Amino acid sequence: MSGMKSDVKLIDESGKRIDGRLFNEMRPIKIEAGILERADGSAYIEWGNNKIIAAVFGPREIYPKHIQDPSKAVLRARYNMAAFSVDERKKPGPDRRSVELSLVISNALSSVVFLEQYPRTAIDVFIEVLQADAGTRIAGLTAASVALADAGIPMKDLIAGCAVGKVENTIVLDLNKDEDNYGQADMPVAIIPRTKEIVLFQMDGDMDYQEIKNGLNMALDASMKVYEIEKEALKNKYIKLAGGDSDE
Ligand code: ADP
Repeated sequence: MSGMKSDVKLIDESGKRIDGRLFNEMRPIKIEAGILERADGSAYIEWGNNKIIAAVFGPREIYPKHIQDPSKAVLRARYNMAAFSVDERKKPGPDRRSVELSLVISNALSSVVFLEQYPRTAIDVFIEVLQADAGTRIAGLTAASVALADAGIPMKDLIAGCAVGKVENTIVLDLNKDEDNYGQADMPVAIIPRTKEIVLFQMDGDMDYQEIKNGLNMALDASMKVYEIEKEALKNKYIKLAGGDSDE
């Protein structure tokens, strides 16, 4: 989010956005669970032009030993963007942004996993962004939550989310890269669908109270749709394992 004014027209006279969506439309989402053999759980997500893999390992022995917690497992998520995931080659390795995103994603996931069942262990979650087009923290969190369930790790629920934002003074759902670059605000939200508890909430840009309220409601509705897609992905994996036909 640059907050930069520009000549780019982000919403046309008929209310269509640059990729043809209406203000309250999400980009298409596809999730596949159980794509990696060596991981305990995994998922691949395509969310618009985002392409992201999540892999889960654990509960397993924790290194370095001194960070172990005698009362519960330590869940460590690492968000990483591949050097080729963005237009300009991204410098490989962790930067301030990926460290922050790793932390907010770890916190969100920790709120649903029954960590106290696995004291002194680590649950490691790797999120690899292969192609980025805005909304990667929520798409990555979505994939990670499906991967944790795929690993059979006990959870009270999945996590589901969606970002909202503001472009041309309009609150819109699920910003793409151009909207994120040239728009006025970006507000990623993630919830525990069953309880509607908010487990990730960030805001970058300018929105007033009413706009935040409207945006939050739009994000909650969208999250419930994402939740259905997540559950469908997990179901499809078991249909495949049982040798039956999935929907595809
Ligand atoms: P999110 O991906 O969750 O929306 P940001 O708002 O920080 O997170 O980033 C928006 C988009 O900007 C990313 O999805 C990506 O397409 C792009 N981006 C982020 N970091 C970089 C970077 N270091 N180099 C180039 N593009 C980047």
